[in-house]
Amino acid sequence: MKARTKYQHQVVAANERLLPLTERQQTWAFRHTVEHFAFRTPSGQTTCLDCGHRWNGTKAKHCRCPKCGARLKLEDTLRRKADSRSYFSVITVQDGLQVQRVFRLDVSYHKGRPAQTVAREVIRYWINENGKTAVTALRRTMGYYRDSFSYWSDLELRNDNMDYRYIADCYVYPNYTAIPKLRRNGLKGSFADIAPQQLMKALLTDNRVETILKSGRKKDLKHFIDHPQDLDFCWPSYKIVLRRNYRITDMGIWVDYLRMLDRCGKDLHNAHYVCPADLHAEHDKYQEKVRIIREQEKRKEQMKRAMENEARFRELKGKFLGLEFTDGTIIVRVLDSVVAYYEEGSALHHCVGECEYYLKPDTLVFSARIENKRVETVELSLETFKVLQSRGLCNRNTEYHDRIVELVQKNVGLIRKRMAA
Ligand SMILES: [Zn+2]
Repeated sequence: MKARTKYQHQVVAANERLLPLTERQQTWAFRHTVEHFAFRTPSGQTTCLDCGHRWNGTKAKHCRCPKCGARLKLEDTLRRKADSRSYFSVITVQDGLQVQRVFRLDVSYHKGRPAQTVAREVIRYWINENGKTAVTALRRTMGYYRDSFSYWSDLELRNDNMDYRYIADCYVYPNYTAIPKLRRNGLKGSFADIAPQQLMKALLTDNRVETILKSGRKKDLKHFIDHPQDLDFCWPSYKIVLRRNYRITDMGIWVDYLRMLDRCGKDLHNAHYVCPADLHAEHDKYQEKVRIIREQEKRKEQMKRAMENEARFRELKGKFLGLEFTDGTIIVRVLDSVVAYYEEGSALHHCVGECEYYLKPDTLVFSARIENKRVETVELSLETFKVLQSRGLCNRNTEYHDRIVELVQKNVGLIRKRMAA
């Protein structure tokens, strides 16, 4: 990609002037960003893969090398080689521009020899004091893996993409330099696992980020940097949190809780809601409330649809309405409205309402009751005049099942008569 804008030309010039990684930076990366191993053979001989030192008898899962002092992960193996790799960043200033330099560290261990390390710079994120970014990086090779770079390409101006951003979220060398505006806006100390270029960019462009950082709440800030839309939604409430000096124990839960409060129509500017004494308990309470609201909404929606279907139902079943017969104990009656279908369904826990039996043109549904208590729901075919199904609570048969079916079959003549009318 060719430099076109003034800013890009400035970046390209600065890109040429950066100094190589120092010995000290590379040593830090080796010590702090990759795994270190000790291999132990069945005889108990243990070898430090960092320095090659050998000794006998270590029992723990982790240990320190008696010679070089490295913290080692102990593995029982006859292998002689191991590899380790990581990405790490050095943050510095060049020509007045803030830059995050991302290196890939490859370490190859070989039993009995000192470890070999190679650090290669792969990406540079440039930011000016207005938060404008540019990327110079190696070309990526096509393929499935994120970290496949063409090491023979140059660190050139390239379009930013997800993979560069993903890789740039990595270890940070603790000694860094920052442009004055970043320091003024509160950048000091560790990056606390926040992706550096994202934090620096946000800090230069969004004064809410500056406020949070200066309040010392890096953990909260990490959540907002990772979920920028949450910051927009939560900011008015978060200001109350800061004012009240309220500690949020779990950011993810707190944000979810706020969204549920909103759903329940609560005031997100009210400290009573925003700063709960027991966040988890309140979260669970509102989760239940939202569940109930959802259920009510679902029912309302269903009833609305049912009402729209009422006219169609009357057209289909109008001539059967009011039809009922009895054997003295059981009364069988045609369900006479869409609402009646839903009521029958929710009383007996079956789906005669949800499945819209009221719109089936060639069947008729009855409620069989004793002393006005629902016993079973009967579906009769209007083509064969046979009972298709008769079901009680939760779709099970009751002790009256056979009597109900018989009663309906005996009165089929009444139904035929209505059809003919
Ligand atoms: Zn050692």
